[in-house]
Amino acid sequence: MNQFLQYNPTRLYFGKGQIEQMAMEITTGSKVLVVYGGGSIKRNGVYDEAVGMLKSLDSDIYELSGVEPNPRLTTVQKGVEICKQEGIDFLLAVGGGSVIDCTKAIAAGAQYDGDAWDLITGSAPVEKALPFGTVLTLAATGSEMNAVSVITNWETRDKLGWGSPHVFPTFSILDPSYTFSVPEHQTVYGIVDSMSHALEHYFHRTPNTPMIDGFIESLLRTAVEYGPKLMENQQSYEYRETMMYISTTAFNGTLSNGTDGGDWATHRIEHALSAVYDIPHGGGLAILFPNWLEHVLQEDPSRVKQLAVNVFGIDPEGKGDTQLAEEGAAALREFWNSLGAPSTLKDYDIDDQDFDSIVEKTFIKPGVGTYKELDKESVRDILRRSL
Ligand code: NAP
Ligand code: FE
Repeated sequence: MNQFLQYNPTRLYFGKGQIEQMAMEITTGSKVLVVYGGGSIKRNGVYDEAVGMLKSLDSDIYELSGVEPNPRLTTVQKGVEICKQEGIDFLLAVGGGSVIDCTKAIAAGAQYDGDAWDLITGSAPVEKALPFGTVLTLAATGSEMNAVSVITNWETRDKLGWGSPHVFPTFSILDPSYTFSVPEHQTVYGIVDSMSHALEHYFHRTPNTPMIDGFIESLLRTAVEYGPKLMENQQSYEYRETMMYISTTAFNGTLSNGTDGGDWATHRIEHALSAVYDIPHGGGLAILFPNWLEHVLQEDPSRVKQLAVNVFGIDPEGKGDTQLAEEGAAALREFWNSLGAPSTLKDYDIDDQDFDSIVEKTFIKPGVGTYKELDKESVRDILRRSL
C-alpha cells in the first residue's frame, strides 16, 4: 500500500427525514442562495421541504434555477454574480450531480476576482470558497461527498473536471425517498456512473491492497445484484437506499485509500465526448467503458480477469487469462445493456466524423490514464470500438 491521508469533512445525513438536520447546519438569518435545475424538485416536493426548512431558519432566500444537466459556465457566472451582488453567506444545492457541481464552481467563483473559468482550467488556484450544503436527489456522481466538479464551457466546447479541498460540501442530506421520482433512464445512468467510479478506482497498480480491492469488488457485486432489482421495482425504498449508498461510497475518497488512485481515462474520454455531443454522462460511460476494458486487456488481461471472476462470477475452469478477461468485458456490457443503457455510439446517432476533435479534447489536460497510459491512437481505438 501507499501512504495515504483519509480526509473527508462532509457531514453526511443519510436516511428518511434527514432534511430536519439542516437546522443544525445553517446559521439562523443567513443569506442563502438555493441552486437547482430544471424543476424536478418543484414537482416532487423536495423544493417545498428544503425552502420550508430555510424559512424556519429565517433565511434570506435567493434562487438560481435552470442548472443544465452537464452544467455550463454561463450558469456558474450567473450564480457568482448573485453571490457578489447580494453578499450571499451560504449556498444550498438541491438536485443531482450537475446542480452540485455548478454550486461548487459558484462557491469558488464568488471568492475570486477574475472569471470562474480560470479556476476550472487551473490557470488560477482556488484559495477559498463560500460554504455550501447539498440535498441530493439523484444517486450517481458522488459529488455530494467529494471535492470534484465538472463544468462545460459551451463556447469552446470544453468539459473540464476540476477540484479543490475548498469545495467539499459542509453537509449533504441523502434521503433515498427523494430519488423515487428519478426517471428510468436517469436511474440507469446513475448505476452506470457509480459503477464506473468504482471500476476506475479498481484499475490501479499499487501492490498489496487486498482490503480495498475486496471492498471495491463487494461494492460492484452489490450493484450487480441490486441494479436489476431496482429497475424492476423503482419505488422500493430498500433498493433506492442501497444504490444511493453505493454511489456516494464509490467516489468519496474511500476507494483510493492506499492506492495510486486508479485510472480515470474513461471519464476523460467521456467528458470530451459529451463536450462535443452533450449526451448524458452515464450513457457515454456505458458505451466507452467495456471498450476501454477490451483495449486494456490486449496488453495486460490480469485485472480484467480478476473483475470477471470476482465480480461477475465467471467460472475460470479451463480458461486462459485473455479469454476470461474478454468474457469479463462482455459481461459488463451485457449487464448495463440489460438495465437499458446504450452500448454503441450509434445509439446517440454519433459516427466517426468528430473523432479528431474528441481525441484532441481528451488531451486538453496532459496525461490520460495511469493503469495504461493512453496515446491519441489508443483513444481513437477505443472510440472506433464504440461505433
Ligand atoms: P444531473 O445532470 O444532475 O440530472 C439529470 C436529470 O435528472 C436532470 O434532468 C434532472 O432534472 C433530473 N433529476 C434529478 N433528480 C431528480 C429527481 N429526484 N426526480 C426527477 N428528476 C430528477 O445527473 P447526474 O448524473 O447526477 O450528474 C451528471 C453530471 O455530473 C455530469 O455533468 C457529469 O459529468 C458530472 N459528474 C460529476 C462527478 C463529481 O464527482 N462531481 C462525477 C461524475 C460525473 P432537473 O434539472 O429538473 O432537476
Ligand atoms: Fe462520473
